[in-house]
Amino acid sequence: MNILAIGAHPDDLEISCGGTLAKYRQNGYNVYMACITDGRYGRQYSPQEMTAIRKREAEAAANVIGAELVWVGYSDLGLKEELALRNKITDIIRKVKPQLIITHYPDSLNPDHKVVSKMVCDSLIPCITQTIESKFTACEKMPILYFMSTVCGTGFFPEEYVDISDTLETKLEMLSKHKSQLDVYTKYESRDLLKFVEAKAFTLGFSCGTKYAEGFRKLHTWGQNIGNRILP
Ligand SMILES: [Zn+2]
Repeated sequence: MNILAIGAHPDDLEISCGGTLAKYRQNGYNVYMACITDGRYGRQYSPQEMTAIRKREAEAAANVIGAELVWVGYSDLGLKEELALRNKITDIIRKVKPQLIITHYPDSLNPDHKVVSKMVCDSLIPCITQTIESKFTACEKMPILYFMSTVCGTGFFPEEYVDISDTLETKLEMLSKHKSQLDVYTKYESRDLLKFVEAKAFTLGFSCGTKYAEGFRKLHTWGQNIGNRILP
């Protein structure tokens, strides 16, 4: 089974669903981590330098769990809802043919997160429509879509939890590869990003009765209703 996680920026997936992706890898699934923007405005360095650094960091993070990084390279803070982006995301889905997709929650402050969420949802029908011309054949079944938590969890009420007690360390190891962003949080927010992410997983774990957890919400539309649990 293939799992496709689609985030706007390098480090989004590690923060909100890294433990779950690690768990899928543990269970023998193929995991693809798509990053739509290049993270060039991640502060610290010039946009060109930042892009190169963040791509290397994203590759290192994916390598921790043996996931495949899908680097798309749109400009950071430059996404808009448009057909070209929807087609690009549709192609990624058609190529990977995932059973499950994880992406951003639609109600997010970050404009790139919002656009990615909308474009991923809007790609679900094109990815199963055989008559659309594409380099990649259509998916036989519409992938099931889950939304991961917002970065801070603000405004996000999980419907389902994944116990990541045994993959928290791996999640933090993935996140630690994004050193440029750990430094940004320390410098500009006076916060330790690793500690914050651990505390969030601890709080979610407390909510569902495990030591550490990640939370998700399901897309409730046609083609998305299956009887059995698909999250690990
Ligand atoms: Zn982001």
